[in-house]
Amino acid sequence: MTNRRMVNRWKSSVQNNYGTPSIALIKGKGLVVTDADGKQYLDFLGGIATNILGHAHPALIKAVTKQVSTLSHVSNFYVHPQAVELAEKLAAMTSDKSAKVFFCQSGAEANEAALKLSRRTGKVRIVAAQGAFHGRTMGALSMTGQPAKREPFLPLIKGVKHVPFGDIEAMRKAITKKTAMVILEPIMGEAGVIVPPADYLREVRALCDAKGALLVIDAVQTGMGRTGDWFGYEYSGITPDVITLAKGLGGGLPLGAMIALGKAADLFQPGDHGSTFGGNPVTTAAGLAAIKFMESQKILKKVEKQGVYLMQELAVIPGVAEVRGAGLLLGIELGTLKAADIAKALQNEGVLVNAANPTTIRIAPALIVTDAQLKKFVAIFRKVITDAK
Ligand SMILES: *Cc1c(COP(=O)(O)O)cnc(C)c1O
Repeated sequence: MTNRRMVNRWKSSVQNNYGTPSIALIKGKGLVVTDADGKQYLDFLGGIATNILGHAHPALIKAVTKQVSTLSHVSNFYVHPQAVELAEKLAAMTSDKSAKVFFCQSGAEANEAALKLSRRTGKVRIVAAQGAFHGRTMGALSMTGQPAKREPFLPLIKGVKHVPFGDIEAMRKAITKKTAMVILEPIMGEAGVIVPPADYLREVRALCDAKGALLVIDAVQTGMGRTGDWFGYEYSGITPDVITLAKGLGGGLPLGAMIALGKAADLFQPGDHGSTFGGNPVTTAAGLAAIKFMESQKILKKVEKQGVYLMQELAVIPGVAEVRGAGLLLGIELGTLKAADIAKALQNEGVLVNAANPTTIRIAPALIVTDAQLKKFVAIFRKVITDAK
């Protein structure tokens, strides 16, 4: 097996919606992955903020192996303990006693569920942010604020208004009594790790309260400890009506969730929504194992500290214009250097990242990353930037 052979087979058997990758990954342990040519990489993308415990983590192997050999799937006609335990855990993490969870597989589905939930308010209008990413299914795409992804698929659902992210005056004009929901990422991930002004979420919360609109926090990328807290919005002090999760939630297995708080928790009625695999015993067992491991190791505190370290170290590298984000979700703004070229050069040097936009490198390593691995990343990044200038 070689990268070239695997990529060629991929090209003739898999649709071309992603563009063609250059390497095939065949195994991983912790933050180190190996490609089909035998080359090793330090994985600083983590399956795009997904493999929070890295690759082949013992806690995950144990939980998944045990569950798949006990009870692997039951349908939603029956209760099973793993979904109940994870739902209780997630609800407790919101600090809202009435919070209730709907399980699905992905971020797009979690946001679709939020959209359908908001229709149960009797209103249909939605406000979202320009540049935001909420997924690729037709409802989620309707809320996604990136024209290039939307335009080939028009018409999308009606009544969605996109406003500049972080601009509270634009939001004030957009929200009316007819607004069913406002959806925002606490930090826009796909757009290039864009952080809003410190009081933005709090002010949007107040506008939603004044007009009776639901505030949906899309924590698909920022959630599960990535920013140093569980859902990425906690720094703002707000309580959202809905939180959507996926990516890190299953510790690398496909698991998503839409958590509704307060009155929103009871908007769905029997028959309103569903998913065959949603809250499957194996994926929820994985999610529980990931959360328990992170709690036992106090990972959130570590992530917060490591984020501060990385920001300080990266910001002073000549050629780096700015470092944005929180915890282990960082956007490294390059100014004049092309992010795609730097990502390629890093891959050659044995580090995986991605170019979130033409001038921004995004890093989202597993939350178990060690200080030594951060140091190694900074050294290689400095070398690559210096060589490129
Ligand atoms: C990745 C992402 C999604 C979509 O998740 P999928 O699992 O790919 O459907 C939605 N919202 C945000 C903020 C994301 O980062």
